[in-house]
Amino acid sequence: MSTKDIIVIGGGPAGITLAKRLGRHFDMAVIRPEPHSMIYCAMPYAIEGLLPPEKTFKKDELVTASGAELIREHVTSINVPEKYVVLESGGILHFQRLVIATGAIPLIPQVPGARLEGVMGFKTQEDMETIINLCRNGLRNAVVVGAGAIGVELVQALRTRNIQVTLVDMLPTILGNMLDEDMTTAPTEILAREGIQLALSRRVSALEGSSRVSRVLLDNGQAIELEPDDSEHPTLVVFCVGVRPELTLLKDTGIEVGPTGILVDGRMQTNIPYVYACGDCVQFKSALTGEVISGKLATNAVPMAKVLAANLLGEDRVYPGFYNGAATKIGEVYVGSTGLTVSAASRAGFNVVTGMGKLFTRFPVMPDVRPLTVKLVADASSRRIIGGQILSGAPVTTQVDLLTLAIQKKCVLEDIRDLSYSAQPYQSFFPANNAMVMAAEQALKALRTQSELSENNEREQTPPLTVGQPDRS
Ligand SMILES: Cc1cc2nc3c(=O)[nH]c(=O)nc-3n(C[C@H](O)[C@H](O)[C@H](O)COP(=O)(O)OP(=O)(O)OC[C@H]3O[C@@H](n4cnc5c(N)ncnc54)[C@H](O)[C@@H]3O)c2cc1C
Repeated sequence: MSTKDIIVIGGGPAGITLAKRLGRHFDMAVIRPEPHSMIYCAMPYAIEGLLPPEKTFKKDELVTASGAELIREHVTSINVPEKYVVLESGGILHFQRLVIATGAIPLIPQVPGARLEGVMGFKTQEDMETIINLCRNGLRNAVVVGAGAIGVELVQALRTRNIQVTLVDMLPTILGNMLDEDMTTAPTEILAREGIQLALSRRVSALEGSSRVSRVLLDNGQAIELEPDDSEHPTLVVFCVGVRPELTLLKDTGIEVGPTGILVDGRMQTNIPYVYACGDCVQFKSALTGEVISGKLATNAVPMAKVLAANLLGEDRVYPGFYNGAATKIGEVYVGSTGLTVSAASRAGFNVVTGMGKLFTRFPVMPDVRPLTVKLVADASSRRIIGGQILSGAPVTTQVDLLTLAIQKKCVLEDIRDLSYSAQPYQSFFPANNAMVMAAEQALKALRTQSELSENNEREQTPPLTVGQPDRS
């Protein structure tokens, strides 16, 4: 049997990126079992009915157009020393270099009843189709656990389909990894207005039902009734509480793993010189703090794969780590964040200063003007930007990316204060101001006030020199 130059296990964003960049340079294969790679991010909107489910399927040509081979198979084991993978069908494929891009799978906490019918995670085509079928087959009540971006997108989709839905999270606020509490008021009110029940600061303690789930018990003793046991209506509890890296294949391979994934260096190399890994299956660090953090996003998986592809083509590039720029949408409000929230920054040991800019998405004299709020998080000692959050009536990803660039390039508050911005009636506030600039100005003002206060305090604590005081020197 021939030996492939490169075998990639996994056909998600990381695997596809590698195929696109390396397919015409190497004899390579991408192996993945599912019939279609998925546009996961669009799945909530297919459930909502905004697009047909098939629109979430990626085309195989994304892999094959470059000349890479696509093998629709499940890899059951890896023989690292002899450099081959074993396929479920029994075949064996030899490689010179192996890339593991097996992604991550949803976490389902092992509470009592977690295996009841109707309890699921949300990741695959099958998951999406199951939820759509349940909606078609009379689903009336559902619980979504986890108020991160995926959870809030899913509850809104279910609500649009007229399903009574409760969103449960152990944190006191929604989008706890993206937004500080003061930024969550408007989005939380929107969810409540849409008729979504919120059970915040609550954990699921058990799921009950005879064969399928019919009741969700929370740690405060509250029970969320889905359907009576004998009801003909289906029930649904979806856990969107995070993912764990898919490491099944790594057992006994000698490839080192950590608690959140495969250990790689900045060149995406594992401890085995000819084995690499990238995407959700790896453990990596924050580019800001150097600490291991979660960064299970397609917008991290793709850049990691690009760095690896460049290195396999002879460059020497290093992946800097996660900034975790991300966005979602709640009702008519676009939500974005990047870097560290105040609580994450405080946990990381930063002394934080923040500034808020509140303006509008258009010249206020124009039609369809919406509020825009930008919050900047900076390190008070260095004035370096370390995070930002945005709520807007218009898409925010460009502003999020600008703030990420500011973080990447180690900009300080003065750099944002001095930003040379553009303005146009449909697309921004008046030339008179810019929300990001306003937030930086406010943070700088807060710093000045703080330093004046501490100077005053020092002055007050130092006894004034009195004329005629005896010289003790
Ligand atoms: C509903 C939803 C919405 C999301 N929205 C966003 C968003 O808006 N923005 C964003 O940046 N990210 C989003 N994400 C996260 C994003 O989808 C993941 O970070 C991304 O898919 C990771 O890419 P990956 O290639 O590392 O892994 P995956 O996409 O998980 O792909 C892993 C691949 O490995 C294959 N595989 C695993 N084991 C084997 C095996 N033994 N043999 C063969 N193949 C195997 C799998 O079948 C799959 O093809 C969302 C995720 C979900 C579920």
